[in-house]
Amino acid sequence: MAERLGFIGLGIMGFPMAAHLLQHHPVTVYNRSVEKAERLAAKGANLASSPRQVAEASDIIFVMVSDDQALESVMEGDDGVISVMGPDQIIVDHSTVSVRLTEVLGARVAEKGAQWCDAPVTGGDVGAKNATLTIMVGSDPESYRRIEPYLTLMGKFVLRVGPTGKGQALKVVSNLVSALNLMAAAEGIRLGLQAGLSLDALEAVMTHGSAQSFEVTKIADRVRRHDFSPGFSVANRLKDLDLALALADSLGFSAPLGASAQTLFAAHKALGFQADDESSYVLRWSQRHD
Ligand code: NAP
Repeated sequence: MAERLGFIGLGIMGFPMAAHLLQHHPVTVYNRSVEKAERLAAKGANLASSPRQVAEASDIIFVMVSDDQALESVMEGDDGVISVMGPDQIIVDHSTVSVRLTEVLGARVAEKGAQWCDAPVTGGDVGAKNATLTIMVGSDPESYRRIEPYLTLMGKFVLRVGPTGKGQALKVVSNLVSALNLMAAAEGIRLGLQAGLSLDALEAVMTHGSAQSFEVTKIADRVRRHDFSPGFSVANRLKDLDLALALADSLGFSAPLGASAQTLFAAHKALGFQADDESSYVLRWSQRHD
């Protein structure tokens, strides 16, 4: 029997991800700002007026919201998903949120006989648009078997990495590394420009040598186009650094580079870059930061 699908959270990432599902299956959708959900309804999605309505109409409920607070607000309360959950339903949470909240909500849905799969993603807004995301899943094996065919409609590399919570743990670690790569690429490229090197030469050599990274390519592209419109916002990047440091703290692990990155990114956000793309960090050398 076909699973009934729901999708909550249609932002930069959620909208194209839900649209990929919709190309193959009926999907019931909800977004806090109704216009985004209406745009997907115009493409054939069923419009729900609350997260609860999505849960009532779905066997598998995909979620892609900003942070812990947003996740709690769609899960909890009379209009929230959990209020109506029952046996055999599955939540697939693509948001990047804390391991702690994932474990708490996972235990709450388990009490109702349902399952929680944390399935955060990496690959950026381009990956969401092109269905080339990498998706790391924390779940029980049986739920993974049920959700995998849908995940492969949104991503090209999908992997179960352990039980509930481990997807978020891996995502936080992965994002700590990409944040440090981003900041290293920005600092290096700005130093190179200051030294009279061309952007083309910097990019060409670094992408063919030991400095290569996704982030070198991203910074070079954004500087060249002088386009800092959000693909991944400064606010979300800082949120993920906060999550990494909270995880390290909970384990008594020292993460000195992460701590420095958090301080530098918080200063960047405070200058008014909150809604800009994370690559706008490269502008710090034209602003007053410290
Ligand atoms: P976004 O465009 O800001 O979308 C956020 C979504 O969360 C929107 O649907 C928003 O609703 C909803 N939301 C926020 N607060 C809410 C609340 N209190 N109650 C209900 N809904 C709420 O962000 P995004 O870039 O899609 O990111 C979503 C998640 O994916 C984040 O956890 C982010 O870290 C992660 N992620 C992003 C990228 C990327 O490149 N963008 C890559 C990997 C992972 P409204 O439309 O009403 O504001």
